[in-house]
Amino acid sequence: MQKQHYINNGWQPASGGGAIPVIDPSTGEAFGEIARGTEGDIASAVAAARAAIGEAFDGPWGRMSAALRGRLMLRLSTAITERNEEFAQLEARDTGKSLKTARVDATALARYFEYYGGACDKLHGQTLPYETGYTVLTIREPHGVTGHIVPWNYPMQIFGRTVGASLAAGNACVVKPAEDASLSTLRLAELAAEVGFPPGTLNIVTGYGHEAGAALTAHPGIDHISFTGSTVTGRLIAEAAAKRHCPVTLELGGKSPQILFDDADLDAALPVVVNAIVQNAGQTCSAGSRLLVQRGIYETVLDRLSATFSGLRAGPPGLELEMGPLVNRKQYDVVKGFLLQAEQERIPVAATGIVHPDASRTGYYQAAVLLRDVPHTSALAQREIFGPVLAAMPFDDEAEAIRLANGTDYGLVAGVWTRDGGRQLRVARRLRCGQVFINNYGAGGGVELPFGGVKSSGHGREKGFEALLGFTVLKTIAIKHG
Ligand code: NDP
Repeated sequence: MQKQHYINNGWQPASGGGAIPVIDPSTGEAFGEIARGTEGDIASAVAAARAAIGEAFDGPWGRMSAALRGRLMLRLSTAITERNEEFAQLEARDTGKSLKTARVDATALARYFEYYGGACDKLHGQTLPYETGYTVLTIREPHGVTGHIVPWNYPMQIFGRTVGASLAAGNACVVKPAEDASLSTLRLAELAAEVGFPPGTLNIVTGYGHEAGAALTAHPGIDHISFTGSTVTGRLIAEAAAKRHCPVTLELGGKSPQILFDDADLDAALPVVVNAIVQNAGQTCSAGSRLLVQRGIYETVLDRLSATFSGLRAGPPGLELEMGPLVNRKQYDVVKGFLLQAEQERIPVAATGIVHPDASRTGYYQAAVLLRDVPHTSALAQREIFGPVLAAMPFDDEAEAIRLANGTDYGLVAGVWTRDGGRQLRVARRLRCGQVFINNYGAGGGVELPFGGVKSSGHGREKGFEALLGFTVLKTIAIKHG
């Protein structure tokens, strides 16, 4: 493990000499260190990225043709695929996620580079009808240097969907991974250099959010910021960016509803409902953390889910159980705090899962919890817990389902289970969120599907072609030729 940043295609020690321990969440013990980045390191990474782009898009990366850029991206995708197990092992150790989840993440990462690699030379402007004597065209240009603040829950996937899209659009990147999950990102930058990305194209500065992250956000050489994380930090970043008119994309999580109408195919729905909350131990921005069930099937659904929840296991990543530990002590305490509040509010626990006997007592393990009859106004139904806690509540009719579903500050995704075609579309149109899944949840990850929120879930879109557009600036050129 390198206790250094990766800048300009090489390892670089922290300018301040500081280090941060790397903790294994399955034991709570340190197994290495990463560099503690500060303003000086960010400045050095931004300078490298600016040189790669060039003053007027004339640097080695700035002038590279779209086709060549795409080929490099595809080469990186192949290199990641060949190292799927290496990346999965690294990520599982660093974040505690089950090895099977980490393998899925590594596969998705390669797919993002494949998707965006293929899109590089399909990104184009338009010619616009205008007054006689003019020809007007638009071209899509990169912002220049983009800053990426990546959280710890899906480091590889979020790297793929933000950095992948940004590079494909022709930007150079400076990335600040979460202090709890930097290892896969560092390895990725090294691999990008190995497959031929020019120096300065992709730079990684590790460190704390309030130091390296804040310095990245404030740096005048950053032309666009992409942030995934909490609403509170998202607001800080938007404020800092606004001070220098820097555009931001914010993906800030949610309290996403899964709505079960009484005509739902429960055999199909219930395994998906469970997976939507226990995936990555609930530490997923789009986790289906609220379950709204039509009253007529409420007890049946609760009985069936209770039986499943009682068998869900949290254990060491290598056992490949349903869940690993939570990422760190802070997150563990946050989830415990919510469960304590549920107890104080006398919210009934319908079922609790199991912590595997092989799990270390010093690891951050949290069993899955199914809460029932959760009042809509309770924090348990309103706030993002980011742990394996599902809050179930009944509703009477379609109007109430929509009111409850829309009744939080968030609006990221929603799941709707019904066989009624009219209702599927009616409800989907009335939900205030960025993605709606009918008779599924998450659509298998959906690299191609635009993703992002409304309200406190953020703004801007990641994934799909839409993300690519967000990493460009549209320039209009009007030619008067008579
Ligand atoms: P944060 O939002 O604080 O962290 C996310 C990222 O932002 C990390 O890389 C972090 O760095 C960085 N960061 C923190 N402060 C700043 C700052 N002032 N300027 C720039 N970057 C900064 O989330 P937490 O890790 O504290 O988790 C708290 C809650 O956030 C969770 O319980 C969950 O509800 C939510 N969350 C949502 C995510 C999502 O996918 N939407 C992902 C992660 C968290 P560092 O970690 O080094 O401090």
